[in-house]
Amino acid sequence: MRFVTFRSDDGPKPGLVVGEEVADLSGDFGSVLDIISTGATADAEKVASSAPLKRLDELTLDAPVRPPSVYCVGWNYLRHFEEGAGKMDVELPEHPAFFSKSRGSVIGPFDDIPLHASVTKQLDWEAELTVVIGRPLRDGSPDDSLEYVFGYMVGNDVSARELQKRHGGQWLKGKGLDGTCPLGPWIVTADEIPDPQSLGVTSRVNGETKQDSSTDRMIFPVAELLARLSEGMTLHPGDVLLTGTPEGVGMGRSPQEFLGGGDVVECEVSGIGAIRNAVRG
Ligand code: MG
Repeated sequence: MRFVTFRSDDGPKPGLVVGEEVADLSGDFGSVLDIISTGATADAEKVASSAPLKRLDELTLDAPVRPPSVYCVGWNYLRHFEEGAGKMDVELPEHPAFFSKSRGSVIGPFDDIPLHASVTKQLDWEAELTVVIGRPLRDGSPDDSLEYVFGYMVGNDVSARELQKRHGGQWLKGKGLDGTCPLGPWIVTADEIPDPQSLGVTSRVNGETKQDSSTDRMIFPVAELLARLSEGMTLHPGDVLLTGTPEGVGMGRSPQEFLGGGDVVECEVSGIGAIRNAVRG
């Protein structure tokens, strides 16, 4: 199943993709987060069979879910580590490098990314497989933590590189600017992604491929990330985890490349879909 949130004059509404159309679930559910939190996936599917339909290509999609928390992991692909931190004499982490993005960073799958020209000159792209938590998870085990996943979507962990480096060695500021976490285009439910470690992750800027890798190259696979992140810390329904980006970001290129006004970034994960965002000043 593919869950979306679409915009309407009455605010954002939850929907389920049915072929080229979207079943409007707003008669029964307030949001996709409500569906996730109440474990109502089967009910939502039932409601969709008789719900009003809208054409998908006529809708404006919002982020599929407004996450209570946005978690991320850095340096989760060896070659991306080498193109960035490896140049700064930082050792490959034994433990996942977790951080978070602000709630205000979340935008829709086709929304504009603000250029933030007065704050950064080094806006960069990071295509990532993004996990949506389905049930509360604490002290999870790699053996069963995937059972707590509601589904998967595509994320772009847009990063302001100079801010990322200059604030005491923590990344919150450089990763948290408004509008720097496009998510979507929908949540594909976990039953349709039996192996999250076999998905292609790609990005393109103005049509040119920048990243082209696979989740089988993650240092810490999704099941282990969830187990480690949930050690003593509850992950809640609707929380998301961006699972790291492969090599090919602008900072690691020679010469370095950063996003400017009018650039268009597309991020894609095979089996899920693609998001596409223009950068606007
Ligand atoms: Mg990232």
